[in-house]
Amino acid sequence: MGKRDYYEVLGVSKNASKEEIKKAYRKQALKYHPDKNPGDKKAEENFKEAAEAYEVLSNDEKKSRYDRFGHAGMGGAGNGFSGGGMTMEDIFSSFGDIFGDAFGGFGGAFGASRRSGRRTNKGSNLRVKVKLTLHEIATGAEKKIKVTKYDTCNSCGGTGAADSNSMSTCSTCRGSGHVTRVTNTMLGQMQTTSVCPSCGGEGKTITKKCPSCYGEGIVQKEDIIKINIPAGVGKGMQMTVSGKGNAPRRGGVYGDLLVVIDEEEHPDLIREGNDLIYNLFISIPDAILGTHVEVPTVDNNVKIKIEPGTQPGKILRLRGKGLPEVNGYGRGDLLVNVNVWIPKSMTREEAKIVEKFKESESFTPKPDKSDKNFFERMRGYFE
Ligand SMILES: [Zn+2]
Ligand SMILES: [Zn+2]
Repeated sequence: MGKRDYYEVLGVSKNASKEEIKKAYRKQALKYHPDKNPGDKKAEENFKEAAEAYEVLSNDEKKSRYDRFGHAGMGGAGNGFSGGGMTMEDIFSSFGDIFGDAFGGFGGAFGASRRSGRRTNKGSNLRVKVKLTLHEIATGAEKKIKVTKYDTCNSCGGTGAADSNSMSTCSTCRGSGHVTRVTNTMLGQMQTTSVCPSCGGEGKTITKKCPSCYGEGIVQKEDIIKINIPAGVGKGMQMTVSGKGNAPRRGGVYGDLLVVIDEEEHPDLIREGNDLIYNLFISIPDAILGTHVEVPTVDNNVKIKIEPGTQPGKILRLRGKGLPEVNGYGRGDLLVNVNVWIPKSMTREEAKIVEKFKESESFTPKPDKSDKNFFERMRGYFE
């Protein structure tokens, strides 16, 4: 389904003033306010749609882009637009004051209930670092990680109470977990609901705490977590394993496990994005006469041919011998940088042989401007 026109959403004309747009948004936001339409998905959709329209039309730059290009001008990265992905939290943190400045207590009461919204209690996230070898990065890896984390207390089953007799129904909210308040606003009486301050939304209070967890419902435990790391990941990347973090206090959902990738250095290969680089040294005779040599890859060694007359600094590209794209298709290459080994010392006999080369016409340098590799390398240095 296509997006509705933002002006239509707010019910204003294209020439509407800023004040009119603000007023129109206020009206829509109140009509579809989640506290006035509890559990109504359609109202929530409308509420979000209005916020998105207001986000654009209240901002001069975004508005002018929208006027010129329509919805097509709003997507994509780099324009600072959230692309309609505003969550309820975003809306209240961005526009919460719009309720407040017009309707006094209303915004405040609502804001408070949202922010202290312990309706779904979530455990905190757990962060671990995982070091992988290049080989593991190339193939993907299943890792078992030992962590110390908060888990549900077995003694009380996470309730935090010593036993079933030491829980009693909260007297403030009579077990419902929330309190309702009636406020007078210019739209008439408005009923607002917020989390019960006495029990934090749980509906129950503990008279005698569980001795194992001191009433928290959680205890520290060691756990082994198995995670599957896809091929092609890189240093500093972060993966989220949902629900594998810390347990929440007294019921709710678990936090997430955040896995930060680190890389072990390979003895021979250097990583550059998805490409790998190997610095190969060959002897002077091999450079002149040509040879076959073995070079390492992430899995094994491969044999490559060195053509007779190979110049030092030549780069041989072995297609597909690099690392795979993370969550994608294709692989990087292995770049073999060919160096020629120049001896730093030698015997008198050896020196005599080398002396002879000086007289040879073939050993006289002939600079080659067509060496494209040279320019490629130079560009690499100065990038
Ligand atoms: Zn306990
Ligand atoms: Zn209560």
